[in-house]
Amino acid sequence: MSFDAPVENPHRRLPSVDVLLQQMPDALACWGRQQVTVALREELAEIRAQISRDEAPEIDVESIQGKVSARLTRNNSATLKPVINLSGTVLHTNLGRASLPREALDAVVAVAATPSNLEFELETGVRGDRESHIEALVCELTGAEAATAVNNNAAAVLLVLNTLALNREVPVSRGELVEIGGSFRIPEVMQRAGCTLVEVGATNRTHLKDFAKAINSDTALLMKVHASNYQLTGFTSTVPEAELAQLAHEHQMPFVIDLGSGNLVDFTRLGLPPEPTAAEAIALGADLITFSGDKLLGGPQAGLIAGRRDLIAQIKTNPLKRALRLDKMTLAALAEVLKLYRDPDSLVQRLPTLRQLTRSRDDIAAQAERLLPAVKKSLAPAFSVVLAECSSQIGSGALPVETLPSTALKITPCSGADADARQLAQALRLLPLPVIGRLHKTSLWLDLRCLEQEREFIEQLGGLRI
Ligand SMILES: *Cc1c(COP(=O)(O)O)cnc(C)c1O
Repeated sequence: MSFDAPVENPHRRLPSVDVLLQQMPDALACWGRQQVTVALREELAEIRAQISRDEAPEIDVESIQGKVSARLTRNNSATLKPVINLSGTVLHTNLGRASLPREALDAVVAVAATPSNLEFELETGVRGDRESHIEALVCELTGAEAATAVNNNAAAVLLVLNTLALNREVPVSRGELVEIGGSFRIPEVMQRAGCTLVEVGATNRTHLKDFAKAINSDTALLMKVHASNYQLTGFTSTVPEAELAQLAHEHQMPFVIDLGSGNLVDFTRLGLPPEPTAAEAIALGADLITFSGDKLLGGPQAGLIAGRRDLIAQIKTNPLKRALRLDKMTLAALAEVLKLYRDPDSLVQRLPTLRQLTRSRDDIAAQAERLLPAVKKSLAPAFSVVLAECSSQIGSGALPVETLPSTALKITPCSGADADARQLAQALRLLPLPVIGRLHKTSLWLDLRCLEQEREFIEQLGGLRI
């Protein structure tokens, strides 16, 4: 028989939920009884599991309370949050594409916080059209007679085809049967829209006569898809828009262009690579164009459809339109972004997307020089940091082969190990304001083109866990 002191069962010493609750008035005030109780139970369950595994967790009231508070903070922190995009891709789909200008943000807050005249005419007191807030602006900026807007450009393409080509044929060049990241593929969208794709021409070359041969009594419209995220080079030939428009019109059918990005200003005027504008497409004879709101246009996620009044009227009465329509916050933001285009001279400064795309190489290089000492200091001695010339991509499938000269902080682990570069990339992603860079070989590249929060970027480097 042993006379050792009896070993106290540690489970017994665990404070009860009630005792802990009583001693956490701050947490109760902040998170409410229900959440705190759940978090306490979860924490206690974890401690019991640790005890059963013969680990020795701290079980005093204070340390349990600390863990519960941390758990509550973690549970309630936003999963969707701002990041600093130093990836080198300006319009990064995974990072939310275009950033909105101040004017658009203010408009969103204003209409979201209170009732608004979304579908209500203040002068007459009768029901209004939610698109009245943007239609005239789109027409003014594109030269179209009428316009409508939906959730994104994929929805715009779907709606146009479903309205104008249901159970009918649509010839498209084999060189334009594109896939736009994720799951948007022209052939599959056409099928879901209820129309039959008729492939014409060859992958590299399509001629007007290919389209002419494909037209029959079942043909609903002719369509051109702007080759947004790839480029055909070499022995290639595409049919110019004006010729396709003429052919469609000879057969009394509409000519539709999916522009993809569809920008509203002459890019060459801004020193950017040329990209057809929406107004040019209308002028070349397109009866309808579709384009994104959050690519080169620099607005909120939306799909715009502009063109002939009778066709837009038909589209607006398609029951699918209701399922794809824009909400008030997006409409408010879109209207303000479109208004900025009325003053092309101030546009580049006011619209973040164009501001970032047109930032000069010198300006970026000067910022890089400014940041280098602080970044070097916070990463020494494990990493070396140098300035390196790099090429920013425009992104979102816009202008796929054109790049913009930029400067990056090129960070290389002194160990030369890949894993250390990857670990640094993760540590930067886990900062309060996550920093997203690009790994290339054994270095992490931070392209500074889109760095507008310079102070926040520097201030949080002290908290980097490497
Ligand atoms: C990006 C793109 C789409 C899809 O637009 P979303 O706004 O992303 O839905 C469709 N067609 C083309 C040619 C595109 O470039």
